[in-house]
Amino acid sequence: MSRDGDTGACKVRRREGDRILTATRGTTVEHWSSVERKPFYHFRPGLPLLTLAPPGCSFRCDHCVNHRVSQYGRDPDSRVAPRDTDPEALVRNAVERGGGIALSYSEPSLAAELTLELGAHARTSGVPVVWKSNGFLTPEAVERVAPVLAAVNNDLKAAGEEEHRRLTGAPLAPVLETILSLKDAGVWVEISTPLIPGTSAEDEQLARIAEFVAGLGPDTPWHLLRFTPTYRMHRQRPTSPERLGRAMRIGRGAGLRYVYVERALSPEGRATRCPGCTSTRAGGRGGQELRPVSRAWGSRWPGSGP
Ligand code: SF4
Repeated sequence: MSRDGDTGACKVRRREGDRILTATRGTTVEHWSSVERKPFYHFRPGLPLLTLAPPGCSFRCDHCVNHRVSQYGRDPDSRVAPRDTDPEALVRNAVERGGGIALSYSEPSLAAELTLELGAHARTSGVPVVWKSNGFLTPEAVERVAPVLAAVNNDLKAAGEEEHRRLTGAPLAPVLETILSLKDAGVWVEISTPLIPGTSAEDEQLARIAEFVAGLGPDTPWHLLRFTPTYRMHRQRPTSPERLGRAMRIGRGAGLRYVYVERALSPEGRATRCPGCTSTRAGGRGGQELRPVSRAWGSRWPGSGP
């Protein structure tokens, strides 16, 4: 039982009297991006996405490129100040632009309330709401949010419990469960795996991850994210091009038709090839970028009133 003023382990919820306030009805980012940058390569190509990043994450990955947003409340370097959102206005904005809404850069499942509000306003307008998620949800949470989600790019960072805990601080089983449940619920699913040298970039891990992804269906896109030195792993070497090529072959060897390499040097890795004739069907996709709206500490939590 929390006491007045206590903050939860997630650092985004705080008790105030008999109310629980959340920082995740606010966003640290609000900008237009494209569906390919999440990345989604097989969901509404070219769709513009109004991208939001409510603060916080349930994982503590040492390789997090968005740690200033994801480690909100945990890391003193995370000096972001989320500002209040207006879900109705955001959906209206998306309708006018003919786009969708994405929750990305941090962990959207901590913003389930915001997602449901967006979904409620988007329902009649056909605006798709999508997540880039780590998949660490309870089955009850998946059941609540799946009906309002059109697509999820879900991370699958390792194939073994021990490796997953080492990379993220969290167990693997709930992530696998979430991916399967989203798929069952009819949500479009693409999978991302960061290739961390010494862990997820190893053949044995990749083969097991590829096998799981192929089990979702051979047309499930698998995005291999090149590791580059960052955050608590800034002294590590980036994933080598040889390792990236090897990972791609492992994915194809498992029967996956669409394996992509992100954050790498060549646009080749992001091109879609026809599985029948191997000619390129789509290419020229860009990488991700992040522009926080503010880096100042905020004393007021979004949604906490004046
Ligand atoms: S799950 Fe993603 S956002 Fe969260 S800490 Fe790990 S890399 Fe960062």
